[in-house]
Amino acid sequence: MGDVLQTIRHAGRRQAYALVVLATTPAICCAASANDAPFAREIAPGIFAHQGLVALTSPANRGDIANLGFIVGDDAVAIVDCGGSVAVGEQLLAAVRAATSKPIRYVIMTHVHPDHIFGATAFSQTGATFVGHRNLPRALAARGEYYLRSFRAQLGAEVERVKIVVPTMLVEDRATLDLGNRKIELRAWKTSHTDNDLTVFDPKSGMLFTGDLVFLQHTPIVDGSLLGFLKAIDELQKIPAKRVIPGHGPIGVDWPQAVEKEKRYFEVLTRDLRGLVKKGADIEQAAAQAGQSERKNWELFDNYAPRNATAGLAEIEWE
Ligand SMILES: [Zn+2]
Repeated sequence: MGDVLQTIRHAGRRQAYALVVLATTPAICCAASANDAPFAREIAPGIFAHQGLVALTSPANRGDIANLGFIVGDDAVAIVDCGGSVAVGEQLLAAVRAATSKPIRYVIMTHVHPDHIFGATAFSQTGATFVGHRNLPRALAARGEYYLRSFRAQLGAEVERVKIVVPTMLVEDRATLDLGNRKIELRAWKTSHTDNDLTVFDPKSGMLFTGDLVFLQHTPIVDGSLLGFLKAIDELQKIPAKRVIPGHGPIGVDWPQAVEKEKRYFEVLTRDLRGLVKKGADIEQAAAQAGQSERKNWELFDNYAPRNATAGLAEIEWE
C-alpha cells in the first residue's frame, strides 16, 4: 500500500513537472509529446524496442536516454535493459503488460551504466531473475553508491527511488535463455565499452541487442578499453544478425554495416593518439586533438570525445 501511495505521489509530481516544462521550454515539448506514442514498438515478431533520446540525462527526460527492449517467447518474457530511472523502468513494464500477460522471467542488464540499469527497481516485484556479466556485481559494488550520489544533479528527486539491483544469474562467457520456442543467446565480452558488457542475440528474428557496444548518432564512449573495443567490434560483426538495437541511436538498423561508423571513429582516434604519442604530446593536447576530424559525424561529441582520448592515451602510451 505504501508503495502504491508513493507511486501515485511521484506520478503526480511528474505530471506537474511535465506541465511546467511544456509551458516554459518549447524545445522539450516534442520529447514530452512523444509519450503519446507507444513506449516500445514491435520491430520484429515478439521483439519490442524503445528508442531513448540522444541526450544527456536531465530531470526533464528522467534518464530516458538509452535504448531498451523486451523479447517475448511462447512461455515468458526477457527484458533487455531497464532505463535510466525507476519512472522509465515503469514505462517499460507498462509496455510489456500492454503487449503480453506472459511472466517476465529475466531482466538482462547489458552493463553498469546508470542510463541502462537505474530502472531495475521497477522490475523487482515481477519475480524475474536479474542477469548480467560476471563482472557486473563487482562494477556495481565499486560504482553504485557513487552513481546514486552523482546522479542527484542529473536526475533530481527521481534519483531517490533508485536502488542498485545486483544480478544473481551471471554470464561467464556465453549463455542461452529459453523463453519457450525462442532461445536467446547471451555473450559476455572482454573489456571494451566497460569491463561488463553483455549482448543478446535472438536467432529466430535475427535481432541483436548490443548494449553500448554499438552507438549510432550518439558519440561512442570508452569506459573500458579503446583497443579492446576495436577487437570486440571485429568479433561482434561476425554475429549473424540481420538488424541491431544499439545502446543509443536509431533501432533496427542493418547489421553488420551499423557498426562501421563507430569502428571508423575508434580507428581514427587510435591513429591520432599514436601520432600524438610519437610527437610527445601531453594529455591535454591529446584530449583536445585526438579524433577531432570525426566531430561532424556525432552528437554530444564535446561531452565524450576528450574523455575517450585520455582513456585511449593511457593504453597507447604503453603499447
Ligand atoms: Zn554505457
